[in-house]
Amino acid sequence: MSDRDGSQTPPPTGATEAPILDLATCDREPVQFPGAIMPHGILVLLDPADLRIRGCSANAGERLGRDIGGLLGAGLDALLAADAREEIEAGLAGIAEPGPPQYLGCHPVLAGAERFDCFAHRSGEHLVLELEAIPAAAAEVWPTARLAELTEAIGALRGAATWREGMTIAVRELRRVCGFESVQGVRFMPDGSGLVVAECQDDAYPSFLDLRFPRSDMPEPARRQMALMPVQYAPDLAYDPVPVRMADQGGDPRQLDLGLSVLRSSSVMCNRFYLNLGTQARLVLTILDRGELWGFFTCRHSSPRPVPYADRLAYQTFAEMVGLLLVEKQAAEQQALGLEAKRRIGALVADLNAPGAYAAVLGQIPARLIDGLDLEGAALCLGSRIIRAGRTPPESFVSALLPWLDEQSELFATDRLPTHFPAAADQGACATGLIAARLRGAGEYLLGFRPEWVHEVHWAGDPSKPVEIDLTSGEQRLTPRGSFEVWRQDVHGLARPWLAHETESLMDLQRALVLVQHTEQQRELRVQLERSNAELEAFAYVISHDLQEPLRGIRNFAYMLEDDLGERLEAQERGWLETIQRLTVRMTDQIGVLLQYSRAGRQPLELREVDLGELLQSVLEALSGRIHETGAEVRVAPGMPTLACDPSRTAAVFENLIANGIKYNDRADKRIDVGVLPGAVSTFFVRDNGIGIQARHKEAIFTIFRRLHGRDDYGGGTGAGLTIAKQAVQLHGGRIWLESAQGQGTVFYFTLAPDPVDGAMADG
Ligand code: ADP
Repeated sequence: MSDRDGSQTPPPTGATEAPILDLATCDREPVQFPGAIMPHGILVLLDPADLRIRGCSANAGERLGRDIGGLLGAGLDALLAADAREEIEAGLAGIAEPGPPQYLGCHPVLAGAERFDCFAHRSGEHLVLELEAIPAAAAEVWPTARLAELTEAIGALRGAATWREGMTIAVRELRRVCGFESVQGVRFMPDGSGLVVAECQDDAYPSFLDLRFPRSDMPEPARRQMALMPVQYAPDLAYDPVPVRMADQGGDPRQLDLGLSVLRSSSVMCNRFYLNLGTQARLVLTILDRGELWGFFTCRHSSPRPVPYADRLAYQTFAEMVGLLLVEKQAAEQQALGLEAKRRIGALVADLNAPGAYAAVLGQIPARLIDGLDLEGAALCLGSRIIRAGRTPPESFVSALLPWLDEQSELFATDRLPTHFPAAADQGACATGLIAARLRGAGEYLLGFRPEWVHEVHWAGDPSKPVEIDLTSGEQRLTPRGSFEVWRQDVHGLARPWLAHETESLMDLQRALVLVQHTEQQRELRVQLERSNAELEAFAYVISHDLQEPLRGIRNFAYMLEDDLGERLEAQERGWLETIQRLTVRMTDQIGVLLQYSRAGRQPLELREVDLGELLQSVLEALSGRIHETGAEVRVAPGMPTLACDPSRTAAVFENLIANGIKYNDRADKRIDVGVLPGAVSTFFVRDNGIGIQARHKEAIFTIFRRLHGRDDYGGGTGAGLTIAKQAVQLHGGRIWLESAQGQGTVFYFTLAPDPVDGAMADG
């Protein structure tokens, strides 16, 4: 179960009680530097330059029937007959970098008939050659039979409906094929503990099914080792480690990195852990998910059990297949769970988008969120309006939470709210878990609540005592815990964790809601605009039909008075009459403009794809007389886009802006530039080098009849051109604005489509 190497860590000096084990210390244990191997093989260290023997395991002399002193410093011929040596030398020549051991074939050594599987890899300055004795039983099973068994086992796996069922099949098949008494399948949990998800074993073995082994049973170096060496094997754990002996000045064998060694000795601590479990032989097969640890199989036997390399290779292949098939299945199952949540939230989004449904569906959101995301309570907060459903904290609490949420990220999810927001401490019954997605701005949120989830975790032994002090040995030493009795732990203060598909679904809803809110706001604005347009239209109608008539009367009577009284009028009286006539003319003009404005607002947009380059050419033709008279230079940038717009309104906007650029310009070299700035929405500009506009007038000039100059200055005007331009732009959903400084010219910008939603959110 564990590779708790590092048993040599002594307790703190003078400790009288069991020390608290520092997991970080455990995580630093150098498992790959034991300086020793297991006795079922021989390890030889070679100089990569001349292949001379720099060191070897202490059993080499005995296994080879010669004095170990004679081996150190000798060449490979001291070890192998010519044929084998040539093959091995050829294999060694290809090993330059550290990496997993390479199999160099099966060869006898000089001393006798025993055959060895040979492996080699590079470690630091050494080449490590390992010779693993082939167990006598290996010859009994023909490789083809093994391969057939393996194919069958993989076939059985494919029948699994769920990944968990797959693990159950896998342990059963693995046990059938490898013959170990106990095979367990363990899955790593997010907190680093290992959960036994499947087991198949003799009745004599205590069941660990559904129990967890704490993270400290598999410290970091052991995990790294598991990822590096997907098969870890010890045929007999009750062995005496065989130290590596170095030639003179060959260095300290404990400096030797044996992380990639097939024969590496695991620590006494690790072995004792297994012996405590009644295990004498073990085989651990790592299951990886795209290179990351996903879980492992642990095979245990109560007596020594040699497993030849060929078989280990077959089991490794099996574990790899499990990694491919079951991990994939698990992802698919999670996805299926997520799909249901997505389907429900998708239906809510569709309802929200249905025409005219917004107001009614808004009120349903919290209740439907509860269903969609498996919540206890939910709330929709839109500033001061808070709609709640299910079990939620009181409104006063939610209101107090919102300003705090404004300081968190746009999506905030926690399974322990009180540790972040202490005021939630007495809301455990409904708000230990919180998921919050910000909508269009501060104080606007979708909130999901989950209560405290008090649950029991079943550990294999007391997880707070991963090691115990071994007092029997006399010398205080850390030892793995001896008891694996089920240890029940009540977990408090946490809510059920938020799963990836839940946060994704909430984000889907958040995006849809923001969009609908935006469209709804636009719609409301349009309704308001239409209403005011209608009022204006009615008003303009009244003016045109009811006021124009009396106005015409006033003007006519003024002319009649002037005609009749003629010479009898004093100069001052004549002046008064002329003023009456002039004012009535002006009023008639203004009424005409009002009519034009109100009609333009009422007429629907006629959208079609328009080539703005062509449209601008026609605008310039219409203005050609004025351009010619004033000698102005008007330049249109190449590459004007083609886009959907109302051509006559768009032409009117350009015409008004260009005409103003020429009109409000007292320079001899009048120059107007027209162009477009690319972006999510095209921004058009009309730049002039005219008199400019003071900052304080930037808004006012869009007001109807508002002129900044005397009535007849700069060629006169009604003061309605920019108002009508703004109206046309807004009908397209766009904006118009300007940059200017007095005497420095002016740039008008406008768009013909709504800003992207992000921009709208930023605007608040
Ligand atoms: P009008 O030109 O009929 O007065 P507009 O609505 O087109 O009406 O313009 C309103 C006012 O804004 C103008 O009277 C002028 O004072 C100012 N203005 C408009 N365009 C420019 C410009 N390009 N440069 C300087 N001032 C301008």
